[in-house]
Amino acid sequence: MNEDKIKIIGTWKEFDQEDKEKNIVNFDENNNYIKNLKLLNIFIEINGEIINWSYVDPYILKNYWFDHKSKHIENYEYSCFELFTCSCGVAGCAGIWDGIYIKNRKKSIEWRLNERDGYKFMPKKFYSFDKNQYKKAYEDFMNWLREEKSINKKLCVDLGYYEGDELSVEDFLNKKPNF
Ligand SMILES: [Zn+2]
Repeated sequence: MNEDKIKIIGTWKEFDQEDKEKNIVNFDENNNYIKNLKLLNIFIEINGEIINWSYVDPYILKNYWFDHKSKHIENYEYSCFELFTCSCGVAGCAGIWDGIYIKNRKKSIEWRLNERDGYKFMPKKFYSFDKNQYKKAYEDFMNWLREEKSINKKLCVDLGYYEGDELSVEDFLNKKPNF
């Protein structure tokens, strides 16, 4: 049986460093508000390789890691598990037309994705993860996030629309799904 291994890697993005190489300089480097924040930046590693995609959605990860079905729309026929998306939160904006489909089996969790939905960057179109390993990857990430502290900068998950309404890690961990 082909068993895939997954890992969620949390990092912090700082804004007072140039990152022209990765082409993510949408922010004014002289903006002091931005300079005092660190923004969560997640990577997904499968079978030892980091998936080459620029933005992993923390909300989707938190709420749909185990089940792609919508928590709010009955009989929604697509997958809500749009883990790989645009940094604005709209997957279609980055050319992703549907989420990943999750099948929960007795001992494994399967992912299915279609190339025509924008998943060219994924090495495979089918994954089978050991259920315990998959669960542990999630718990390890959440535990890491819970313990993360910063001495001189505020850690946040999302910048929000206005100065000061960014989402703190604590609020994120306590937030209930609303989509
Ligand atoms: Zn976008």
